[in-house]
Amino acid sequence: MTTISLLGAPWDASSSYLRGAAAAPALIRRALWSDSSNACNERGDNLAAEGVLEDRGDIPLPEEAAAARDTIESAVRDVLQGGQRPLVLGGDHSITYPVLRAFRARTEPPAVLHLDAHADLYDHYEADRFSHACPFARVMEERLASRLIQVGIRTLNAHQRSQASKFGVEVLGAERWSDVIPLLGRVRGSLYVSLDLDVLDPAFAPGISHPEPGGLSVREVLAVLAAIKTPVVGADVVEYNPQHDIRDLTARVAAKFVKELVGVMRR
Ligand code: MN
Ligand code: MN
Repeated sequence: MTTISLLGAPWDASSSYLRGAAAAPALIRRALWSDSSNACNERGDNLAAEGVLEDRGDIPLPEEAAAARDTIESAVRDVLQGGQRPLVLGGDHSITYPVLRAFRARTEPPAVLHLDAHADLYDHYEADRFSHACPFARVMEERLASRLIQVGIRTLNAHQRSQASKFGVEVLGAERWSDVIPLLGRVRGSLYVSLDLDVLDPAFAPGISHPEPGGLSVREVLAVLAAIKTPVVGADVVEYNPQHDIRDLTARVAAKFVKELVGVMRR
């Protein structure tokens, strides 16, 4: 039986600066199945083989934000109730909050590994509590994560520093990214991985809405994923913005992370 479900959340109306991420899921899929490569990840799983990955397509989303969040949450809940693990393609980062809400029925919330240039911990941003700048504030308020480990952060202001300390977030700045490797060996229970592509240096991933120099390489992010020792119950890859991409470079990086996340989730 397939244990991993791919689903797209084509939503970018909670983006604070640039729209475009709603077009991402289709283009990440196109890169994933492109004839320029094969469908195997580095540990040898063939994503095209029967039973490895079920593509459920894109979640049909209404225009209104609260209704869209409910729709995302219930689509992910369906995946979980079917005994599968969701791998969600954003969309902007606001989608992670409804995705994690879908895990509420579980006895214990997962720990969350969040890779990003930004902490996304604003209490509200431009009068929106559900902006892509806020999802992890909502996640921590509702105790949807047993712990939150952030890697690659390089934009903390005073407000977000105080939010991080209020919620007990473990923040590893981009300069300390490798410190997460021993830490990941000690995470208990289950883990959810939220991967914002702008954790990468924009040299590796120009197709994003908030380029922030000084980020990680693709290989460094893969090293972080390889250090996970805990069962991964779900993941997302968010913030690909095709309008700013160059020759599908960033789509290919997103597809690469999908491949390797499938490997991590199948271990
Ligand atoms: Mn983010
Ligand atoms: Mn970001």
